[in-house]
Amino acid sequence: MIKKPILWIVIPCYNEEAVLPITAPMFLNKLNFLISANKISDESRILFVNDGSKDSTWDIIKKLAKENPHYIGICQSRNRGHQNAVLAGLMEAKDNCDITISIDCDGQDDINAMDKMVDAYLDGCDVVYGVRSSRETDTFFKRFTAQSFYKLLNAMGAEIVYNHADYRLISAKVLKEFASFKEVNIFLRGLIPLVGFKSTSVEYARNERLAGKSHYPLSKMLSLAFDGITSLSVKPIRLITGFGIFVAAVSFIIVIWAVISALCGNTIAGWASMTSIIGFMSGVQLISIGVIGEYIGKIYLETKQRPRYIISERTWEE
Ligand code: UDP
Ligand code: MG
Repeated sequence: MIKKPILWIVIPCYNEEAVLPITAPMFLNKLNFLISANKISDESRILFVNDGSKDSTWDIIKKLAKENPHYIGICQSRNRGHQNAVLAGLMEAKDNCDITISIDCDGQDDINAMDKMVDAYLDGCDVVYGVRSSRETDTFFKRFTAQSFYKLLNAMGAEIVYNHADYRLISAKVLKEFASFKEVNIFLRGLIPLVGFKSTSVEYARNERLAGKSHYPLSKMLSLAFDGITSLSVKPIRLITGFGIFVAAVSFIIVIWAVISALCGNTIAGWASMTSIIGFMSGVQLISIGVIGEYIGKIYLETKQRPRYIISERTWEE
């Protein structure tokens, strides 16, 4: 019989003292179930990544690690955001396990989907995307904004799996390749598909948060969408070029029309049309410069090559 794979469940936690004591035992039960079903090794672990929480989250993680050897934790030196927290966990895991599953700590993603994920891995898939089958428990507003998010990203050239967030299984083999993607602007959903390898999806129902509140208000979601687009695709720049060509063509027709009007002698003081055109064009130019500036900003950040995460503490000795 082949060796059973070691699974590390990677869980980012930011100010989650309200929900962690509820969900941690649920993750442990799932891990124990998978171990007793002979699907994964007993050396599997639940890795909490404390993302610089300001509440007692890290103390709770340390306490859990003392209680049960399956719980372990790392602490980021400060809050770096969800994506970097997951990345830190995955990079920590890749040399210690065979498979990772990343999942939020709030119980929103159905942990029972892990069974199917592990089965898919055992069937030969290296990446298994958790895809939400319904969003019935989300408010209409959250559902609408989230769906627009995926549509906008795809329309802008960032290919992401529809209705897939950051609940996924990735094998250590894929993570070792992914480690050479050195960019600091990371958007895991868009990057993991770029690594390739055999992948599949598993559907699951998305629940309501068990406790605590969301860290993703509309403003953060918009900035994640914008980050996603600008770090994965140059389509906005192309759209601007296309728009520029269109405006230039229209202006050309207007010029001909103006010349003919002038020749026919029926020109009138065109102050209003003039100012509106100038105003409109200034607006278009400013937006375009802004979008280009966004890319330059990204280049600026990339050239610094700052570390993407800094781990300040671990619950185990290295
Ligand atoms: N999270 C994090 N760092 C942050 C914000 C959030 O590690 O700066 C974690 C959070 O603890 C949770 C996950 O990312 O496990 C998703 O966050 P949340 O549930 O607030 O987002 P939502 O599900 O509402 O989109
Ligand atoms: Mg959540």
